[in-house]
Amino acid sequence: MAYRGVSLWRLCLLSLPFASALTIPQEPLVKWPEDQAIDNDVFNITDYTSLDDWNPKNWDYDVVIVGGGPAGLAASMSLARVARTSLLYDSQEYRNEQTRYMHDVLGQDGEVPLRFRTTVRKQIDDLYPDYSFWATRKTKVTGIVPLEKGFRVYDDGGRQVTAKRVILATGIKDVLPDKQGFAEAFGRGMFWCPWCDGHDYKNRKLVVYGKLASAIGSALTMRKLTTDITIVTGGPLTKEDKDAAEARWPSWETVVKNTYKITIRENDIVRVERTASGTEPKDDEYRVHLNGGGPLVANGIFIHAPTVQTSSLHKQLRLEMDGSSVKVKDNKESSLGGLYVVGDANNDGSTNAYHAMWSAKRAAVSCHVSISRQEYLESVPSATAATAGGDEDFYQRQIEEIEFQISDDMEHLYKTLGG
Ligand SMILES: Cc1cc2nc3c(=O)[nH]c(=O)nc-3n(C[C@H](O)[C@H](O)[C@H](O)COP(=O)(O)OP(=O)(O)OC[C@H]3O[C@@H](n4cnc5c(N)ncnc54)[C@H](O)[C@@H]3O)c2cc1C
Repeated sequence: MAYRGVSLWRLCLLSLPFASALTIPQEPLVKWPEDQAIDNDVFNITDYTSLDDWNPKNWDYDVVIVGGGPAGLAASMSLARVARTSLLYDSQEYRNEQTRYMHDVLGQDGEVPLRFRTTVRKQIDDLYPDYSFWATRKTKVTGIVPLEKGFRVYDDGGRQVTAKRVILATGIKDVLPDKQGFAEAFGRGMFWCPWCDGHDYKNRKLVVYGKLASAIGSALTMRKLTTDITIVTGGPLTKEDKDAAEARWPSWETVVKNTYKITIRENDIVRVERTASGTEPKDDEYRVHLNGGGPLVANGIFIHAPTVQTSSLHKQLRLEMDGSSVKVKDNKESSLGGLYVVGDANNDGSTNAYHAMWSAKRAAVSCHVSISRQEYLESVPSATAATAGGDEDFYQRQIEEIEFQISDDMEHLYKTLGG
């Protein structure tokens, strides 16, 4: 029987212990693109009528990782180091798919993102074949259902697996303005991150496109790299725009325009046109057409684009959000216990390769520690309860004592050892 109605789905979730941690917003927290609509038909509710399915004795994997960018790969390696099995799914819609090189990552500065991922996967394959597994290439996770002590994960090939924990490393997408030339230029002369890409345009012509206050911020970040910067504000400045800029950058008009000689054009960009044929950053040159006045010539264009989640899984699971990011605790666990969100998708406020890898590492540690604790408690001999003479309080105290001893201690020990 195919699952149909939303109310049944909610009923199903709310009847599960895990669901107590869920937050079900009244209204969607972000406006969701049509093509990311939830397909509830992927669930087969008959799977959950048996107690064994709800509380399996054997698990396919310790952890399922969704996403194979730097965050997902870091989680896979980290879990393997402590002999935890993981299955990684990747639908291969990487945020930096179009960019030519990654920068500002030790040992990888100037590396091609595809080569970085391939090298990491090979290293994991070679060193940890018993622990790290990959779903067939380009497999998308279509549904995740919480069980009593873990999760059942569905993919678009009609398969399902169980795991004790799930790490979502599903990333975000940049929503570019629907303007001619933008999609082609993004990652190839048009960027959002001064640290990642600004240096390639040292002493060259830059355009910064965005609301005045934030555009001034980006322009100032790159002012040491080049003095040839034009801010394009998207249209005539309103009082609101000027007040916002003044609040953040006092006397901006004097300092930005006169002292730093940054030009401000109160126009909108209508299209960008590539005017150079080479493919390397040194070859980048664009004609930036405005809705008034002549076009600008730019080697690099920096824009402020909003972002959305790449996957809709957080929506299906009713995860608590922080704007368009998934809200996580310090250990990167979401509002749904046992399900972690790492990398660009979470609300740490950083979206770069370092953060992706670090946050995944943090989640992997937390997965391992919490599974170890669960396993330990399940190994407590039933004799313990018998010794207590059936005294429920005594038994409970024993459990609490064990929990106290092994939870934080394991993590502190791990940190002390340099984990
Ligand atoms: C133009 C550009 C240039 C950049 N340059 C740099 C740079 O130089 N240095 C730097 O540090 N950072 C850079 N970044 C940022 C960097 O790309 C991201 O911070 C990083 O990729 C985040 O890693 P992630 O693993 O969280 O997400 P991603 O790399 O986006 O990976 C997410 C993966 O999850 C998969 N996925 C999503 N949903 C599902 C699903 N349901 N089932 C299966 N798989 C799924 C996606 O297909 C994707 O493969 C750049 C970004 C852009 C846009």
